[in-house]
Amino acid sequence: MAEIKYRRILLKLSGEALAGDQGYGISPDILVAIAAEIAEVVAKGVEVALVIGGGNIFRGLAASSKGMDRASADYMGMLATLMNSLAMQDALEKKGVTTRVLSAIDMKQIAEPYIRRRAERHLEKGRVVIFGAGTGNPYFTTDTAASLRAMEIGAEVILKATKVDGIYSADPATDENAIKYDDLTYLEVLQMGLQVMDATATSLCMDNNLPMIIFDLTRSGNIMKVVCGESIGTIVTGAKKHG
Ligand code: UDP
Repeated sequence: MAEIKYRRILLKLSGEALAGDQGYGISPDILVAIAAEIAEVVAKGVEVALVIGGGNIFRGLAASSKGMDRASADYMGMLATLMNSLAMQDALEKKGVTTRVLSAIDMKQIAEPYIRRRAERHLEKGRVVIFGAGTGNPYFTTDTAASLRAMEIGAEVILKATKVDGIYSADPATDENAIKYDDLTYLEVLQMGLQVMDATATSLCMDNNLPMIIFDLTRSGNIMKVVCGESIGTIVTGAKKHG
């Protein structure tokens, strides 16, 4: 078995990743599958923090475009991330992994408040930390929450799980000429307007030199491969490996 490359990771799952083919809500089968993969890397001694989106339940921007107050809609979106976080916590604990959900919005009956030092302590003890409620602020996304938390806890990399195996020049599902990039710089992602992480999240990673790896979560074993440094997906850093 290959050596571990990253000891502390932040894994960002979109809400849609939990929905599976049904496209909405939470698929119990997907939860079990993802939890099993996370359990494998935890067993290898990798410290894992998770940020889960809420798009499978509620998206602030979508609701505000239909007339709802944006801030209220965003708070609803943040609550949706908590539902996903609790679902993932349950799935992980069923696999024997100890977890803690830390919420950016106080919800003390169901989650600990987000306290950075506490998050670090949990990680040191081998617990999976699930950051709920995004950044706690409207007008942000869980991609940005992932970048922010990754920085705060000193994660070595952000792993952004998607349904395709990396970043393409166009949507590979609809454009047969779409080419896959193995590595890109933050500036290229921003300048080309590639919709992999939102611009705020990408800039935050760029300013703090935190690598992002975009990879396909739908293939089993991929989380372990990325953690072991196998070049799957697309890595985004400050400078490219090959010219
Ligand atoms: N959200 C927010 N502030 C944050 C994180 C999330 O207001 O810091 C809200 C926002 O309305 C967003 C929703 O929560 O649409 C769900 O998050 P996101 O869209 O990032 O989820 P994903 O696309 O990853 O499923």
